[in-house]
Amino acid sequence: MKKRIMLDAGHYGNRNQSPTVPEYYESVRMWRLAELLAQELSVLGFEVLKTRESQALDLAVVERGKKAEDCDLFLSLHSNATGNGNTKTDRVSVYAPFDNQNDSHTLGKILASTVAACMDIKESRVKTRKSEKGDYEYYGVMRGARSVGCPLYYIIEHSFHTNERAAKWLLDDKNLKDLAIAEATAIAIYFGLEPFLKGDVNQNGKLDIYDAILVKRAIMDTIRLSDRQLGLADLNDDGKINTYDYIALKKKLM
Ligand SMILES: [Zn+2]
Repeated sequence: MKKRIMLDAGHYGNRNQSPTVPEYYESVRMWRLAELLAQELSVLGFEVLKTRESQALDLAVVERGKKAEDCDLFLSLHSNATGNGNTKTDRVSVYAPFDNQNDSHTLGKILASTVAACMDIKESRVKTRKSEKGDYEYYGVMRGARSVGCPLYYIIEHSFHTNERAAKWLLDDKNLKDLAIAEATAIAIYFGLEPFLKGDVNQNGKLDIYDAILVKRAIMDTIRLSDRQLGLADLNDDGKINTYDYIALKKKLM
């Protein structure tokens, strides 16, 4: 059975603008990242769901967490903001279950270091935050996910959008794509799924002429590829398999 992942793009509409890079809104960029991450995780064989149907739609934090019922993993995607006007802070934080349930801090550390490496940030950490009033998660999305028995749930803070460098980095679609690939690959390895190479349509672990033949046949409509194969064959990620994918694969083979 496929592992099921619930993705939660933090915030909706135009929320949390960067004070240093005005084009940056956390809500917009994290929605984009969620879309890209969903694509990459699907290619790797996960079933991926989102807490909200559309970017413009809001849903209360606890309700978003509760959508993680029957999911193996819940990820809430964010960029952080400093409250004290400090624009230097550039650090990746992953909030993980306060009691380290199911050894959840292991994947937390993997996610934190993966994001930091991809964003070229030195500092990354796994954090927990418990309510001062009792033994429950401080953050609503995490409380919701825990309440429905989701075994692994996290908030990923992709550094701080109060930091100019980080906000600019996150504004670049190509960077977000790299981030999505890095996160999806790390998750696939954690769950013991073999992450396949883009272009490895026959999934034999390497790019070869047989992959190119499959792409050619798919373009000529003489074979039907599986969903996973379609993802692997779509080299330029435009949602279609066509001559451009064939050319891109041939270039990789040279
Ligand atoms: Zn946020």
